[in-house]
Amino acid sequence: MSDTLRAAIRDVVDFPKKGIVFKDITPILADGKLFSETIDRLAEIARASEAKKVIGIDARGFIFAAAVADRLGIGMVPVRKKGKLPWKTRQVAYALEYGEAIVEVHEDAVHAGERVILIDDLLATGGTAAAAVTLLRELGADVAGLAVVIELDFLDGRKKLDSLPVTALINYP
Ligand code: AMP
Repeated sequence: MSDTLRAAIRDVVDFPKKGIVFKDITPILADGKLFSETIDRLAEIARASEAKKVIGIDARGFIFAAAVADRLGIGMVPVRKKGKLPWKTRQVAYALEYGEAIVEVHEDAVHAGERVILIDDLLATGGTAAAAVTLLRELGADVAGLAVVIELDFLDGRKKLDSLPVTALINYP
């Protein structure tokens, strides 16, 4: 299945800016069988982690996280970019190539000691995932790990996540 998954991912050169090869996952979503198998595999990882909630990272992470949460019959929590969540939030700022970004979560989205797993489409430099982990830990969550569809190994995003277990369905060396 990894080969089919890899073949479905579309490389878009120079998007959203010059020098970036964007990994477009929309062909996975558009293929019912492949999307379902992708969710099977992410759900297996989430089940094994014994997480009681799935955390989806803005924005493509929501698609995968929501489907996994539904598959396991557990809750899903969105970690969003600044200014999108309506209730009381906790925020963490993190560095981008130029400037900084802020991610937010509702402060009542998880309770102290609750075991959670993070899901995103892709791990690149790890900045976004590391900020999400910090945010969840500030709320007292027990972060079991991060599961992604794609990991860009050459950007070494895992380094920013210390010893957190990271599982990717596909790696690009
Ligand atoms: P990072 O914080 O560098 O790990 O970036 C991760 C976030 O940016 C993920 O939520 C991805 O959706 C997105 N992203 C970063 N690089 C790419 C890429 N080459 N192709 C597709 N999405 C990317």
